Amino acid sequence: MSSMKYILVTGGVISGVGKGVIASSFGTILKSCGIHVTSIKIDPYINIDAGTFSPYEHGEVYVLDDGGEVDLDLGNYERFLDITLHKDNNITTGKIYQTVINKERQGDYLGKTVQVIPHITDQIQEWVERVAKKSVSPGGEEPQVCIVELGGTIGDIEGMPFVEAFRQFQFRVKRDNFCCAHVSLVPQPRSTGEAKTKPTQSSVRELRGLGLSPDLIICRSESPIDIEIKKKISNFCHVEPEQVIFIPDLSSIYRVPILMESQGILEYLIDRLKLNIVKPQPRKFMQKWRDLAERVDTLRKEVNISLVGKYTKLEDSYTSVTKALQHAAIAVGYKLNLKYIEAANLEKATKLEDPIAYHEAWQQLCKSHGVIVPGGFGKRGIEGKIEASTWCRETKKPFLGICLGLQTAVIEYARNVLKKEGAHSKEIDPMTPHPVIIDMPEHHKGGMGGTMRVGKRRTVFKSNKNSILKKLYNNVDYIEERHRHRYEVNPEYIQEFEAAGLHFVGQDVDKERMEIIELADHPYYVGTQYHPEYLSRPLSPSPPFLGLILASVGKLASYLNRGCRLSPRELSDYETDDDDILINQLSVSTHGISLSDNGGLSSGSNASM
Ligand code: GLN
Repeated sequence: MSSMKYILVTGGVISGVGKGVIASSFGTILKSCGIHVTSIKIDPYINIDAGTFSPYEHGEVYVLDDGGEVDLDLGNYERFLDITLHKDNNITTGKIYQTVINKERQGDYLGKTVQVIPHITDQIQEWVERVAKKSVSPGGEEPQVCIVELGGTIGDIEGMPFVEAFRQFQFRVKRDNFCCAHVSLVPQPRSTGEAKTKPTQSSVRELRGLGLSPDLIICRSESPIDIEIKKKISNFCHVEPEQVIFIPDLSSIYRVPILMESQGILEYLIDRLKLNIVKPQPRKFMQKWRDLAERVDTLRKEVNISLVGKYTKLEDSYTSVTKALQHAAIAVGYKLNLKYIEAANLEKATKLEDPIAYHEAWQQLCKSHGVIVPGGFGKRGIEGKIEASTWCRETKKPFLGICLGLQTAVIEYARNVLKKEGAHSKEIDPMTPHPVIIDMPEHHKGGMGGTMRVGKRRTVFKSNKNSILKKLYNNVDYIEERHRHRYEVNPEYIQEFEAAGLHFVGQDVDKERMEIIELADHPYYVGTQYHPEYLSRPLSPSPPFLGLILASVGKLASYLNRGCRLSPRELSDYETDDDDILINQLSVSTHGISLSDNGGLSSGSNASM
């Protein structure tokens, strides 16, 4: 293909109908044909990035290799397409205006009045063209297709400069290189059960009024829609029936690309964008996705995991952690039964204030097979997380602490095993007599978040330690995972901790920062200062998560003894022969390059999705 092809994905009616998954699914289908795909997410808010967002309001902050703190939708693209995005792949109004204002200050506009049209709209187009070319794969290949997702819905005031930019862009890059997919909602009111197309008609009219014509109209609905409705939408929205695609709610997100493909999207794109590809053999095409979707639908046994967190009211706050748990559970052949526990409800103070919430929280914790304490900031709920860490240590319950979760495990160990009363993190209690967690920031010039240690960093396994995590990572010497924190284990206490049985099995390259803890004489008590959830993929689950699930279902020891494989007998409890193949193809995710079971290097891009 000579020039870059763009697929713009817009939304109509309401947001939150799965536009991100649909946009990622375009990529999945094209990637299955051997095309190199990249993506750009546009968020029309004024913030420069998601770094300052409250998880209560926006869901999690997703972290990239380069330290970009971005919208959680970028996680969808990385997981679906197994690519590595850059911070520039997330465009915000703030970033565009900042660039234009900086140029104006440097006198680049030669005394002209700087305006939304043409200066802002030109800047948007330049940004898209520049970033689309950046490689997102370990092989360094230049992408051939760029999927651009415009956040919000058509007609939002904030989105207008972007819509106008793409109206111009379709002529800049020429018709064969640009198409537009509009994701709309088709409500089915309970009273009649009939599919209502009016909202879709209005939003398509609005899109056209702004100068963009939909090439595909993707209709989201709760239940399947009668095929006859395609004709109606086709008539009213001035497109062919084959340009209308129906996506009702499905049993898992892995079914979305399969359903889109079955409605002829690939043939349409090949023709519309003059893609130079032949559709692969139908039998094998997207087989990994079919296997995965089938596997997810047939899981019977359940594993109960409790997530002890602070932002449990908005489940989006823990999207990547939840996905990583799902990937691991699917790989082991279990259905994930995840319960969110509000950390503060485990605290003694709650026992008096709200005894029902307190007892329910503890009952939930006790019912779980495994516990995860994810990352977080600030004081609220910290004592509850510490309580959960103590309980898991004492009852030998599988435990994974991530970032703040590692820190709470260290604090509880200092207080209860080393008998250091009042031990704490300086983040929470600056006057603590035993500061076991201290401020060890990295300094970056400029702006908010400038002292966070954020992005990809290396963790080296200590050679003299017998580490479960090292085994789960296929015995590699070092790993590269993403970080987002400011505080660290205080090096002054390391010897005391180790002498008592809490081992620091992985460090940063300068041997100053402790990256991994493991407790002796416990089935699985692990903490990581890094965030392994960001690199988990559906078919290459993240090793710390895989370890948690395996330990929670009592299969970790045999898995490790068999050289990181489940035995066919263990698999046959609940799976077919095909699944045996699937799990044996499994390679763990160690950032893009995955080390396969036999220890050889294989490119992450063909090993996983
Ligand atoms: N608040 C802690 C720190 O800054 C942990 C951060 C996190 O969990 N992401 O180190």
